[in-house]
Parts: sequence; C-alpha cells; structure tokens
Amino acid sequence: MARLNENFLKLKAGYLFPEIGRRVSAFVAANPDAKVIRLGIGDVTEPLPPAVTAAMHKAVDEMAERSSFRGYGPEQGYDFLRDKIAQHDYQRRGCNVQADEIFVSDGSKCDTGNILDVFDLSNTVAVQDPVYPVYVDTNVMVGRTGAADAQGRYAGLTYLPCTAENNFTPALPEQRVDLIYLCYPNNPTGAVASRETLQTWVNYARENNSLILFDAAYEAFIQDESIPRSIFEIDGAREVAIEFRSFSKNAGFTGTRCAFTVVPKDLQAQTASGETKPLHPLWNRRHCTKFNGVPYIIQRGAEAVYSTEGQQQTGDLVKFYMENAALLRAGLTAAGIEVFGGENAPYIWLKTPGGATSWDFFDRLLNDAHLVGTPGSGFGASGEGYFRLSAFNSRANVEEAVERIQRLLK
Ligand SMILES: *Cc1c(COP(=O)(O)O)cnc(C)c1O
Repeated sequence: MARLNENFLKLKAGYLFPEIGRRVSAFVAANPDAKVIRLGIGDVTEPLPPAVTAAMHKAVDEMAERSSFRGYGPEQGYDFLRDKIAQHDYQRRGCNVQADEIFVSDGSKCDTGNILDVFDLSNTVAVQDPVYPVYVDTNVMVGRTGAADAQGRYAGLTYLPCTAENNFTPALPEQRVDLIYLCYPNNPTGAVASRETLQTWVNYARENNSLILFDAAYEAFIQDESIPRSIFEIDGAREVAIEFRSFSKNAGFTGTRCAFTVVPKDLQAQTASGETKPLHPLWNRRHCTKFNGVPYIIQRGAEAVYSTEGQQQTGDLVKFYMENAALLRAGLTAAGIEVFGGENAPYIWLKTPGGATSWDFFDRLLNDAHLVGTPGSGFGASGEGYFRLSAFNSRANVEEAVERIQRLLK
C-alpha cells in the first residue's frame, strides 16, 4: 500500500474556519429565523471594478477569433502585466524591481506555500503569532516541524508574539533563524510596520544571512503615506527578501485568481557545501515545472487595474472598505471595546470584553447578537483574548453589526 505523508497528520484537526462553520451551522439550524451577519472570513463582498470586467470581456472575444486566440502563455505571466506591475507598484515608488523578477500566479496563498519548494528542510523558520495559518501549515506539511502542543504551537517553529504590549510589533528572534515570514499590513491584527521597523528586519536579515518572506497582500489599504507599501522600499531588501502580492483584496480577485511574487535576482542562498547561488533561477524552474500560467483573460483583467479607470475604481473599493473599518472602530470604541488595526488594513483586532477567551466571545456574539467573527486564538496562541472583525461587508451589515454589538454590551 502507498505510504502517506504523515506530516499531514500533525495538522490541527479542528482548523479555524471549519470549526467556525460548524458552530454557525448549528446555530442557524436551531435559530432558522435569525439574521446572521458574517464578519468572519476575509473575503471581499463588492463586485469586480467595471474596468476589469470590460477588459476581461474584450479578452474573451479575442479568444473566440483564430487570429487573436491564445493557448499556453508564458508561465511567468504576460509581459503586458509584468511591465505594468514593475512600473506602477515598484519603479514609480522608487523601488528597483524589474519585470523579469515578477512571477504572475493564481494566488498568494499558493505562492507563500509553494515557495518552500526552493528551501532545504534544514532551514529554521520564524512566524508572527498570531499568524496567517498558511505559512505554518505548509511548513508542517513539508515536515519542518514536530507535533503541535495544546495551544497549537508546533515544535521546531519560532513564534514571534504580537500583542498589545509590544504594539503588535514583534521583537527580533532570540536565536538566529533562516526564514522569517512577515505580513504587513497584517492579517489578522491589522497592524502596519513603519519604515524603521522594516529596516530593522532587513538589517537583521543581512547580518544573520536570513531571508524575509514578505506578504504585502493588503498594501492597497495603507492610508498613512509614511508606511512602506513594499519591503523593496527598504535599503538592502533586494538581497534578503521575497515579496508576495495579490489582486484579491485591492481589486476583488478572490474568486478570479491573480497574484504575483517578486524574487529579486540579487537574492542568494547557500548549498550544503557553502556555495552561494541565486534563488531566482530555482523559483523560475519551480514555477515553470509545476504551473502553466494564469489565464490570458484574467491577466487582461489584472492589467486593467493599472488603467486610469481601474486605479480610480479600485481606489473607491478600498475607500469603501476602509469606511466600514472606521465605522467598526468608532462603534466598538464607543461600546467600550479596545480596538486595534482598521486604520491601514481591512481588519479590526479587538480585545475581548471582560477578559473572555476568544471562543467564548465568539459564542456570545453568535448567540446573543447573531454576529460571526473570527476568534483570535485560531491564528495562534498569542491571539488568545483577541477577536478579528473584517471590514469586507456591505455598509448596511456593518452598521447593523455595530448597533448589535452596542446593544449587547450596554
Ligand atoms: C487574502 C490573503 C492573501 C491573498 O491570497 P490569494 O491566494 O492571492 O487570494 C495573502 N496573504 C494573506 C495574509 C491574506 O490574508
């Protein structure tokens, strides 16, 4: 009989979102008339911008004509899109990132997991705690960890606690690590990193020969002009960082699927014998071997994000969600809740009232206010006692959610 990968058996069985789904289904079955508002899973709610759908319609028509039909495209993405990304997201902001360092993909979730293919199992890894679960679970799957403890911390990973006490800015690891996942603006805490903080990390990586895996999926939500939108705005980052970006949250592509990863040509890693080699060819090889490109139609849609109308329309989308975030922040604060995030990110991270556990507050909110959020402890041990609310929702739902929370806590 074939042997299975036993690392999968180490994954925590009651994964966060299925457990939320289970509790919500049970509640809805028992209370069929309750109007449940979901502020839980981080999915967008508003439709694609018209500039994007117009570009996709046009691309569909091209695919219907022999003369303009396209089959397999370049695995790394079409030049029309890579050039726009390089110019608009990087060069225009003074970052040295070239089009051939950009790998267009079907998602940052996939890329942050797939990147592990080019790294040896012996690498030590640090993650922020709380953390986007994908970074942890993909390391478990490849066998870089031992078992999880009662709080869900896996042996062999270095956890960097992010709490109100350190303003959600983790201290540098006490022991040297090879790979460091950083996510800014952060999911789930909504925290951002200042230029100084990011420079500290880049300096650490340079001094320790570490590599930063920087997830900037939420960069479009940054309102404060002084906050860097890319790790490549930081001096020296080209030698120590990979960046992940996505069209999911800024342009509503969660179901449409388009993202990209930047692997600078200056980035090197070591062989067992101590030789240094660039990582760019390895990632290129990996991408071309295991991936066959994002559909032409979708890449045309992503390209349209960079048009004048696309910029206006995606800007309006972000503005809409950030107004939701401001309403949630103000409403919760008025209800006496301590809130974090929501100023440069679409997530509100709140301290559970009365020192409740994350799951107790989840149950209270569901049963007494018919609201669904995400328990902070589901993102890591340091998330215990916190709770995440998402600004991805309709205005009416956000306003009603705020009213219900205020009534609940009166
Ligand atoms: C939503 C999200 C992404 C984007 O994932 P896609 O696969 O591109 O949709 C990446 N990182 C984080 C932390 C996210 O929350």
